[in-house]
Amino acid sequence: MRRDIYTPDHEAFRRLARDFIDKEVVPNYPAWEKAGQMPREIFERLGALGLLGTAIPEEFGGAGLPDYRYNAVLQEEAQRALVTLGTVRTQIDVILPYFLEYANAEQRQRWFPGLATGQLLTAVAMTEPGTGSDLAGMRSTAVRDGDEYILNGAKTFITGGLLADLVVVVARSSTDPDNRRAGLTLLVVEDGMPGFDKGRVLEKMGCKVQDTVELSFDNVRVPVANRLGEEGAAFGYLGHNLPQERMTVAVGSVAQARAALTATIEYVKERKAFGTPVASFQNTKFELAAMSTEIEAAQAMADNAVLELVDGRLSGPDAARVKLFATEVQARTVDRCLQLFGGYGYMMEYPIARLYTDARVARIYAGTSEVMKVIIAKSLGV
Ligand SMILES: Cc1cc2nc3c(=O)[nH]c(=O)nc-3n(C[C@H](O)[C@H](O)[C@H](O)COP(=O)(O)OP(=O)(O)OC[C@H]3O[C@@H](n4cnc5c(N)ncnc54)[C@H](O)[C@@H]3O)c2cc1C
Repeated sequence: MRRDIYTPDHEAFRRLARDFIDKEVVPNYPAWEKAGQMPREIFERLGALGLLGTAIPEEFGGAGLPDYRYNAVLQEEAQRALVTLGTVRTQIDVILPYFLEYANAEQRQRWFPGLATGQLLTAVAMTEPGTGSDLAGMRSTAVRDGDEYILNGAKTFITGGLLADLVVVVARSSTDPDNRRAGLTLLVVEDGMPGFDKGRVLEKMGCKVQDTVELSFDNVRVPVANRLGEEGAAFGYLGHNLPQERMTVAVGSVAQARAALTATIEYVKERKAFGTPVASFQNTKFELAAMSTEIEAAQAMADNAVLELVDGRLSGPDAARVKLFATEVQARTVDRCLQLFGGYGYMMEYPIARLYTDARVARIYAGTSEVMKVIIAKSLGV
């Protein structure tokens, strides 16, 4: 179906992204998967091409175009090439908005140029070993001591934590017995600060090119100058930025489902069973038709929400609806595609197997499908 959310500028950006991904990502991807991370240099190459700093103001080396559609194009192009750029996506779609929204003038001078060039890599640390979905339940503490906070606690499942120079940590700076959501603060912890440790790199079933690590904070002295926004206001900041984080997952899910379908159509035309192409069976045709229909429905929903996000009007419940639907369409599609590949679909040398393992987490991170349903139900007044 025709899509009309992009302008010629986005399409020019798409050509740049496509060329970069085809030449610099696809050939190296298997090696990065083995290494369990993307090399630092790839961020600097992306930065040099202007692919990281579109939303960063021009005075700091960015393009001054705070338009989420550029981020969406980058993701679509990665999925089209059957790769994922998880850590890049976290940096520009999830973490950069916190800096853009809440950094003060001094912090902008200090951090924005490095964020635009890809010389400063970031991670965001909300989840803890004891709490993920229930963000207000986090136990890490930030106790004010003069011009510093003393940070203690542990975080887990942190994307890009291994290479991160700056980690945006959410910690509790005060407790209000009547309001669990009050008292959370965002602190930017720098690599190398005494007491800050990067722990185990976790072994995952998919998304192998993005590292996922545990982090620990043992009496880390974080200057007040590294606080993003107001003390105690972080829950509101998370609520403000989570719709974009959820859209990011949704946009990637639809694009990945589409890429899986394209790869499957090619495969079933070639592969023969009982002397005839697998594509000739009515079951195959029906499966492909059903998948294509679901993908178009998810695409229309996601495109509509992308425009709402760009206009600053996307509500939390609507972002939750799109994430829920897009990730479930992705899961169904990739599973059905794998089935059509038969035994080869189960072999890691065929990309469909990787898409299958990569896809699973989309219904978990950035808020689980169940949490999306809780948010949607609340908006229905139940
Ligand atoms: C690969 C990967 C990368 C990640 N990257 C990051 C990152 O960079 N930074 C970060 O901070 N976090 C990150 N996360 C963490 C992720 O956001 C959490 O895993 C997710 O929010 C779920 O939290 P949890 O794992 O603690 O599950 P839990 O909260 O323990 O949930 C367990 C189960 O209970 C269900 N459940 C929970 N609450 C409810 C409810 N109210 N009603 C019904 N069911 C409920 C959940 O849906 C789930 O099925 C990452 C996770 C993964 C797997």
